[in-house]
Amino acid sequence: MTQAKPAPSGALQTVHVALGARAYDIVIGRGALAEAGSRIAQLAPGGKAAIVTDARVGALYGQRLADDLSRAGLRPTLVSVPPGEGSKSFPRLIEVCDAILAARIERGDLVVALGGGVIGDLAGFAAAITRRGLRFVQIPTTLLAQVDSSVGGKTGINSAHGKNLVGAFHQPSLVIADTALLDSLSEREFRAGYAEVVKYGLIDDPAFFAWCETNAEAIFGPGPARDHAVAVSCRAKAAVVARDEREDGDRALLNLGHTFAHALERATGYDGSRLVHGEAVAIGMALAFRFSAMQGLCPQEDAARVGVHLASLGLPTRLQDVPGGIGTAETLVEAMAQDKKVKRGELTFILARGIGRSFIARGVAAADVRDFLVGELAGA
Ligand code: NAD
Repeated sequence: MTQAKPAPSGALQTVHVALGARAYDIVIGRGALAEAGSRIAQLAPGGKAAIVTDARVGALYGQRLADDLSRAGLRPTLVSVPPGEGSKSFPRLIEVCDAILAARIERGDLVVALGGGVIGDLAGFAAAITRRGLRFVQIPTTLLAQVDSSVGGKTGINSAHGKNLVGAFHQPSLVIADTALLDSLSEREFRAGYAEVVKYGLIDDPAFFAWCETNAEAIFGPGPARDHAVAVSCRAKAAVVARDEREDGDRALLNLGHTFAHALERATGYDGSRLVHGEAVAIGMALAFRFSAMQGLCPQEDAARVGVHLASLGLPTRLQDVPGGIGTAETLVEAMAQDKKVKRGELTFILARGIGRSFIARGVAAADVRDFLVGELAGA
């Protein structure tokens, strides 16, 4: 449930991910990056660190982090890939693994992922497989990565067959979420990450959803509401991951909106100029609630409230909102059948009985989904 009040401005908060031998802390707040050197040095005193980043984030923060690590007695090497979803690919993975090996990163050393979800997924997977497993630190620089992808140990790349289909569970040793880094994020990327914040309210925390409705504007600004939103989200994710690290059970709830979202991303060829991941999740969550309402599971008013809130912030909520179109209902259902949340040909969705009352629905009939999408495409 939602923690009572935002922490005062400037105070760092720590969320613990209780995973026994793989437990770690998430340090959250404005200015947390200033402590990165000393905190990372504690993990590998005097060791080497490969900082994997993308060209955009690297230009903004790469040298600052490298200098900080050097001051703390570590020996950093910067490894850069192009920005964007296209870097979650086999060719980039090979490049990053080779760069880590060329930097002579050994088992006692570290990989540091400095960037958004793309970098966390790619660098984390490279760390998981290079030298049969290197420790890594996540320094997420997008809102989406701070509230979602940097926590929980899912790493991986995309395949021609679909998103995130090649990967590994590999928990970070530390996450440092400096919310001041979000000041340089584009409004579009911030908004996309906000969809994942709202997701935690929609899953099982209606009070947090209501808090988001009231405080959205402040979350988009640099004050304590933003830090609070990140901390509540991380606490929610940490609790789910601690219960179900490998997604054998209710971790799947975190996929609310994602079966639709992944199909949309696939249909747009992972073209970030048309649709970025968080935007796809916004549409996916709105669809999941409308589908739930159509199935008689969820009040229409709740589905409408979800759509209204997301749209009020400029997020897309309808298939028609994707520029350039997304094909037919059949092609979308076909794309969902390729998604890894499919077990023995049955579609699994996260549906809702209301705001904050999401549940795992197995064996959803593809025909029902197709009919629903036909109606959505027709503007029903
Ligand atoms: P991203 O990593 O592509 O970053 C978005 C853009 O913002 C990039 O162009 C990047 O260069 C730029 N950027 C990043 N930080 C910046 C900053 N501080 N200032 C200015 N520009 C900055 O996208 P994302 O939305 O962070 O991540 C999306 C990816 O995360 C998807 O591949 C998705 O599948 C993955 N994901 C993974 C998990 C998981 O559990 N592993 C969960 C959710 C999403």
